[in-house]
Amino acid sequence: MVDFQSVLDDIYTNLKDEVNRGLVASYIPELSNIDAQHFGIYLKHCNGQSYSVGDWNHKFSIQSISKVLSLSMALPLYSEAIWKRVDVEPSGNPFNHLSLLELENGIPRNPLINAGAIVIADVLVSHLKNPKQDFLNYVRDLANDQSIDYNYKVAASEKLTGYTNYAAANLLKAYNNLDNDVDEVLDFYFHQCSLEMNCQQLSNAFYLFANHGISLQQKQYLTPSRAKRINAIMLTCGFYDEAGEFAFEVGLPGKSGVGGGIVSLLPNHFTIAVWSPGLNEKGNSLLGMQALEQFTTKTKLSIF
Ligand code: GLU
Repeated sequence: MVDFQSVLDDIYTNLKDEVNRGLVASYIPELSNIDAQHFGIYLKHCNGQSYSVGDWNHKFSIQSISKVLSLSMALPLYSEAIWKRVDVEPSGNPFNHLSLLELENGIPRNPLINAGAIVIADVLVSHLKNPKQDFLNYVRDLANDQSIDYNYKVAASEKLTGYTNYAAANLLKAYNNLDNDVDEVLDFYFHQCSLEMNCQQLSNAFYLFANHGISLQQKQYLTPSRAKRINAIMLTCGFYDEAGEFAFEVGLPGKSGVGGGIVSLLPNHFTIAVWSPGLNEKGNSLLGMQALEQFTTKTKLSIF
């Protein structure tokens, strides 16, 4: 058995003094004010053990990572018909590119680009009684942590500056791929992106993807087949236009967000969340990518 704690300690020591940390996201003030020096890792093993280092306990804006959780909530509600409204092909587009051109006949290329995630948000708005509260409860239950919450200031800022997301939602609406009002769907979408979680909460929430759809609390949320499909989408579409690079360097399914978080996993083994807010030019956490590359190299634990 790998000594995970010393692997995490080694990685932390190797990277903690790194001067080149990339740039924190600057499109809203709430994200641009974050100190780029933060760095933390948390690993939840499927045998029940957990390991951590650095700022694993510090909450941050999970942003696009939320798209995996909304997809996992929507899939059982809408079933396989969901794949008629959103495709499963990688996009190769940068994080801040709206990819309107990727809407072929109003079908976004995958559920992890903004246009695809907005369709998933529409599914949740249609199927949930109190969409924002129900989604929050879902994430809290998955992570087994009732302290998780939205950051309402971040959600409000996203709303003020979210012109491209409004454009995407309007285009989806024009193509009849949005059942609800644009404003209602985007209000939900901006809130889901504003969720604040720490590395431990993210590792715990994503546990079901490493455990064939069964959560930390032993509740079956997804069929094994759906958990497999979501992992496949994370592997091929989880890192903006760097999904190939992440598969090449790290070799695990995962998802990043512009808040600097990355959560990744190896089915039957572990989930791991890394946070360092400085981003590389592709919008992925610079230290986070390096930390996970070192992790799979040191432990030889990857899907390949
Ligand atoms: N809330 C951001 C947006 O919709 C998500 C940014 C991200 O993490 O990719 O533009």
